[in-house]
Amino acid sequence: MLLFTPGPTPVPQNVRNAMSEETMHHRTPEFEAIFEKTRKHLFNLFNTDEVLMLSSSGTGAMEAAVTNLCHNTLLNVNSGKFGERFGKIAAASGLKNVEIKNEWDTPVSVQDIVEAVKSNSDIDAIAVQISESAGGLRHPVEEIAKAVKEINPDIMIIADGITAVGVEVIDITNIDCLIAGSQKALMLPPGLSILGLSQNAVDKIGSGKGYYFNLATEIKAQRKNTTAWTAATTLIIGLLEVFESIEKKGGLQKLYSDTAIRAKAVKNSLEAIGLHVYPKSPAMSMTTIDDVDASAIRKMLQNEFDVNVAGGQDHLSGKIFRINQMGLIPVYEMAWVVNSVELTLSKLGRRAYDGTANKIFNEIIFEK
Ligand SMILES: *Cc1c(COP(=O)(O)O)cnc(C)c1O
Repeated sequence: MLLFTPGPTPVPQNVRNAMSEETMHHRTPEFEAIFEKTRKHLFNLFNTDEVLMLSSSGTGAMEAAVTNLCHNTLLNVNSGKFGERFGKIAAASGLKNVEIKNEWDTPVSVQDIVEAVKSNSDIDAIAVQISESAGGLRHPVEEIAKAVKEINPDIMIIADGITAVGVEVIDITNIDCLIAGSQKALMLPPGLSILGLSQNAVDKIGSGKGYYFNLATEIKAQRKNTTAWTAATTLIIGLLEVFESIEKKGGLQKLYSDTAIRAKAVKNSLEAIGLHVYPKSPAMSMTTIDDVDASAIRKMLQNEFDVNVAGGQDHLSGKIFRINQMGLIPVYEMAWVVNSVELTLSKLGRRAYDGTANKIFNEIIFEK
């Protein structure tokens, strides 16, 4: 079965092999050397002043960012499940929060953010997804960050890049906290989250908040190539192998350009067979299609073509399907996926099969 859900994503064979070695003690020079190398790769990927690895799923890093960087009121953008989560974290942490809510296909307007910030001087942090995975939506985070910093540079910009870091170049000029998670673009099993921090964020963290997710404690430890609590050793060993695989396949820039061209090829090929892309501003992490037959298409892809794609949640359950674009995806696998979607439409009596999807896909991939 081809795993094409936008998280978890497939873990490459060499990475699984690297993680199958005997368990290593985390307080040893051997592990600290691995930690140091991985940390260097992370600085290169994030471009931020500080990076921290936490043993948690992505939500743990979201919570750590909110509790350590917001001390008064959080403005969160809710165009989907993950944006909504930031508001829930604020409420659970005893912080005030203001929310800008839109339909899941709609990116937040920069103007709405500016107005919210100007009308509430208690807002000291903004949390937004770069790629909102609920609908495969790209928010204009870099523009938001720039506009907010022009109003008040002390407002912390928390960008959830869990389906964006490792997918595309992110301009971190005005971003204070950039979050990634292991099981999405980083091609690892779940359980490791990563935060990139600006110097302003490090300053605001001060002595930190909370206990397990106290980022001051982690900064102190990780600058010495260790962690405050037991490190997720196996996943960090896997992450180093992921970075080495990316290098072997031509480096980060190649990964970004391959992802961009693949996302375009899939989008255009599915549109060419009459399908509709759901978000008004699609993220490159996934291709989201809204369709009356979304459930039937997903089922047939799984049962007849061995392709596992994700559905929708909440009010989009049964109304969309989402195809992963993150990671080092072989072209022949992606070609099989678009061809399978076309064959599925034919079997459902929607459109006679003529190979259009593969033709468009291959033209874009190979005649670029
Ligand atoms: C997957 C995901 C998360 C984190 O989810 P976990 O299940 O806690 O790893 C957060 N934000 C986005 C945009 C995601 O795609």
